[in-house]
Amino acid sequence: MIDPNLAEVKGDCFIIDMMYARSQNMVGQPVYEQIGFGNRAYLHRDMWNILQKAEPWLKAHRLKLKICDAYRPPLAHMKLREIIPAPGFFALSPERSQHCRGTAVDVVLTQENGEELPYPTQVDAYRPDYAQEVQKGNTTAFFEYLKQARHDYENPDMATEIANRKELKALMENIGLLAIAHEWWHYNLPEGNTDKYPLIDFRP
Ligand SMILES: [Zn+2]
Repeated sequence: MIDPNLAEVKGDCFIIDMMYARSQNMVGQPVYEQIGFGNRAYLHRDMWNILQKAEPWLKAHRLKLKICDAYRPPLAHMKLREIIPAPGFFALSPERSQHCRGTAVDVVLTQENGEELPYPTQVDAYRPDYAQEVQKGNTTAFFEYLKQARHDYENPDMATEIANRKELKALMENIGLLAIAHEWWHYNLPEGNTDKYPLIDFRP
């Protein structure tokens, strides 16, 4: 049975492609599959109600919103942190991750056929070469690259990518979600890290 505070993300406007349900991610393992969670996207009901406000804009622009991470079970969070314990990756405890409260979402805009619009990095700043290095504990080069994931990253050779980043931010802020400075794909529910939204321990 689903946790009463969670709702499953569904509908024509959304593509579910949870990055930790597959191996192409920074940890190199399908952690959500391993714990029996699979490729399912859930959000706190308050967050889901807000996210659905993006639907008219998405339809008008013939775009879709790909959900790359949403609610994250605490067990999955602990496994992710076990694989990459380095500071700057996964929050020290599930309590400190809004994903584990269902009040954070990682997203990217796609064409109607699912093709991702280009951005200054992939979601999670994923690259197979950096992922391998980071899993070995070598983080220096990746953290340098990660600067490209910031909202204030500018590069005249990436005009399209940066315009797409700004378009996504405008959409998400217009419906009432909050951007964070260092990850263009991550959006928070206001008050999503307060006692109003405690940790949720749920697996389907
Ligand atoms: Zn995130």
